[in-house]
Amino acid sequence: MTDPAAASADSVLVHAGSLRQLGDPVTQPPVLASIVASWGEPRPEDYGRGGNPSWAALEQALGAIEGAEAVVFGSGQAASMASMLSLASGRDRILLPRDGYYNARVLAEKLRPHGAEPVLVDLSDHVELARRLGEARSVLWAETPTNPLLRVADLAALGSLAAAADAPMMVDNTVATGLLQRPLDLGATASLCSLTKTASGHSDLIMGAVMTRDPALAAELRSWRTLGGGIAGPMESWLALRGLKTLALRIERQSASALTLAEHLAAIPRVRAVHYPGLNQQTLAVAKAQMPRGFGPLLSFELDGTAADADAVVAAAALITPATSFGGVESSWERRGRWPGETAPDSLIRLSVGIEPVADLVADLDQALARPS
Ligand code: PLP
Repeated sequence: MTDPAAASADSVLVHAGSLRQLGDPVTQPPVLASIVASWGEPRPEDYGRGGNPSWAALEQALGAIEGAEAVVFGSGQAASMASMLSLASGRDRILLPRDGYYNARVLAEKLRPHGAEPVLVDLSDHVELARRLGEARSVLWAETPTNPLLRVADLAALGSLAAAADAPMMVDNTVATGLLQRPLDLGATASLCSLTKTASGHSDLIMGAVMTRDPALAAELRSWRTLGGGIAGPMESWLALRGLKTLALRIERQSASALTLAEHLAAIPRVRAVHYPGLNQQTLAVAKAQMPRGFGPLLSFELDGTAADADAVVAAAALITPATSFGGVESSWERRGRWPGETAPDSLIRLSVGIEPVADLVADLDQALARPS
């Protein structure tokens, strides 16, 4: 390849942050420094709250996936907080999905005195959305597929509605990542990713990032990060960059296995409902169009039974790890309703599909679901 700029996102991720001058360590070591030698005119990175070469390498990689500037934070929630504060400035409302990640709703409520009033909406009801967007100057905070119900929103349609109302649209892209879904191409002002999950993929760090093609918004996000202090550690940034190098391989296998498991679960009599973008006939065409490479590692299913029945199934797994979060190389699951504030049905189990051979996962699911509760 003669022009590195023409490389695919997958190749860019493999090489991101690598050094290639004579004698350079190919893998740039994490820069564990709070200060660098400096004098005269100050630069943001002179003090570690303003910048660090380890973030810069990660931001370059994340930006390359979505053709945007990336701003990394110390967690997905820190990224959400800076985004809500930046986007809601001068606006009256923030419209959020009723069934998305519950801590986005909790955070928006907490920020109400400092910005916009949160209003819960159904992202599939475009008539209601258009009405809400027309009522007041708003931010549209979308999420697709949603956590934990894996509902798919039509991003191109939402982008048009937001543009018509002159509302910025944020898309929480944590489940799909920028490799499976590119919200900025579909009308989003910014996309958000909790790097804690699939993007880094090894369940060993907490981080988040916002991607945007709007330089003024990127500057505002950086300013909230520096002043609010929600910065990422250099070691976590280094780990996240290392994880990103294998994202394409991981997410392809995870998506393929998740589809197999979703279909398998749908045929089990104890399972009342399965939620997965690749299975939902109502939104399948939209999901295929906006996630052409796969539907992601996350699915959920409801048992015909009680919360205690679901707890017993989770505890019975021999291979699948009983744990929260998702996107790691190891499969994990939890009964989602155990968290206060979550609105998922009582017997809903959220399963994050890892990179184990799918036959092993089918066997583990079958034995866990076969046990009497
Ligand atoms: N967005 C989604 C969809 C999430 O699932 C999460 C965490 O579960 C977050 C944002 C917040 O990310 P973090 O836990 O890295 O703060």
